[in-house]
Amino acid sequence: MKSKNNLMKNNKFGTDLLNDPILNKGTAFSKEEREKLGLNGLLPPKIFTIREQHERVLKSFFSKKTNIEKYIYMMGLHDRNETLFYYTVIQNLKTMLPIIYTPVVGEACKKFGSIWRRPRGLFLTINHKNKIKKVLKNWKYKDIDVIVVTDGERILGLGDLGCNGMGIPIGKLSLYTACAGINPEKTLPILIDVGTNNRYHLKNPYYFGLRHERVRDEVYDNLLDEFVDTVSDVFPKAVLQFEDFANQNASRLLKKYRHNYRVMNDDIQGTAAVTLAGILASQKISKRILKREKILFVGAGSAGIGVGNLISYALEKEGVNPNKARERCWFFDDKGLLIKDRNDLYEDQIPFSHEQQHITDLVKVIETIKPTILIGLSGVGGLFTEPILKKMSEINIFPTIFALSNPTSNAECTAEQAYKATNGNCIFASGSPFPKVKIGEKLFDPGQCNNVYIFPGVGLGAIESEAKTLSDDMFLIAAKTIPEYLTKEEINNGRVFPSLDKIREISIEIAKNIAVSEDNNYKNWEPEKISKELNSKMFSAKY
Ligand code: NAD
Repeated sequence: MKSKNNLMKNNKFGTDLLNDPILNKGTAFSKEEREKLGLNGLLPPKIFTIREQHERVLKSFFSKKTNIEKYIYMMGLHDRNETLFYYTVIQNLKTMLPIIYTPVVGEACKKFGSIWRRPRGLFLTINHKNKIKKVLKNWKYKDIDVIVVTDGERILGLGDLGCNGMGIPIGKLSLYTACAGINPEKTLPILIDVGTNNRYHLKNPYYFGLRHERVRDEVYDNLLDEFVDTVSDVFPKAVLQFEDFANQNASRLLKKYRHNYRVMNDDIQGTAAVTLAGILASQKISKRILKREKILFVGAGSAGIGVGNLISYALEKEGVNPNKARERCWFFDDKGLLIKDRNDLYEDQIPFSHEQQHITDLVKVIETIKPTILIGLSGVGGLFTEPILKKMSEINIFPTIFALSNPTSNAECTAEQAYKATNGNCIFASGSPFPKVKIGEKLFDPGQCNNVYIFPGVGLGAIESEAKTLSDDMFLIAAKTIPEYLTKEEINNGRVFPSLDKIREISIEIAKNIAVSEDNNYKNWEPEKISKELNSKMFSAKY
């Protein structure tokens, strides 16, 4: 928040002040401020309130014909007046989230070169080896709470976009501010450019990034080691979130750094926690308990294995032996069921391979394993065909069916297909949003399994509790917190994720629960007092 005092303290006047997006209020500068801050004549005479400015913003926003134009317009506002940008995003979260983040941010990354206006964030490259400290110190703000970093190799479902991936850290950090009230001055987006294997970009004369193939192996690892170590030195309070790294690096880097640095990987840990939250919420409808669920994952990549690991951890916390816990999770990939006899499995997959015959037909797998939950994390649209969905409802009263692959065209099935095939007797959620579905007299409102329910609250919890590392317990706490926010009506309509309108409240609750469990910075504080304190610190987009 920028009070009058802040404006004076910042020592900025006239055009300098109008060009600072953190301090700028545009037409909302008062008569007194215009007088004192050398703004007379630099602004049109009419003074607007932030509410009036927001109405004007919405009018322009809705006048844009395409989503990418809406994205460009909002990013322009972000660069001019951050308070008004966040006021607008917070007031219109459901409309704005798909524009400033997925799916539109994907299109924006693809077109990064042609829609680029002003630099935002830090671009580190392989050529900065041994100079990373110097580059990090170029950043204007010194007190950083959250850094989101990508190397651009696996941007959403779009593959290697190289330097153009910068839209992802920018978008993700906007969500930290909008959903958990992290002050925008305390966020830092970083793109690490080690080259790209994207032929189109390498040949494109307007591509912004380094024009060579990706640097790999030891050279890459040494750069990442220097980066992670230097970040913890220059920005010691910051949570470092890895985003959209390729599979070959994502889980490996997380394992390497997570026990010594304050790092997290949203694609792995955020996905795991939000999926577990959906499963726990589904049990409000199915009346099953975690120990009795049998989960069949279709897709055994970094997302699926991440979910399997967190579910196993949750079961272990309930007293289940680790091997037995993993036996509740079965995986099926493009080559069939993961079984002990397969010799093509990755290290992370092996604990989830079980004694079983090799089956490559999904209907047969369902008949054999008899899962209560079917989770699609394959990236393959339409994989859950009618016979598969019907089989799930034949063997369960209320099967849980999550089609989590993004974007919409990659969803393993649509909400309509799931409800129709099971005659309304399933609990459904998806990675991309689907409209409500009517089956007979009943209207189903499918929930979206969106990582935004998790990472802002977990990040805030880690920052506020001054945790040295981000533990599995923090993600478990987040997963258990979310279902508490479902209303009876939402449960009746088959929803397993609460309304996004409550996201700031949910993030604070997750952060508070983490702070209580960490028992560190808020030692001996009453939980309610912690919530109040966290609320009072939230960036609230006011002048
Ligand atoms: P990945 O490439 O690491 O894994 C994909 C897996 O799917 C691999 O195991 C592959 O063998 C398997 N697969 C491919 N074709 C298959 C087929 N025909 N039948 C069965 N299995 C098949 O990808 P990832 O990072 O694990 O992400 C997977 C999907 O999950 C993506 O589409 C992503 O959008 C989605 N996702 C959703 C959320 C969410 O909803 N919150 C979060 C993260 C990822």
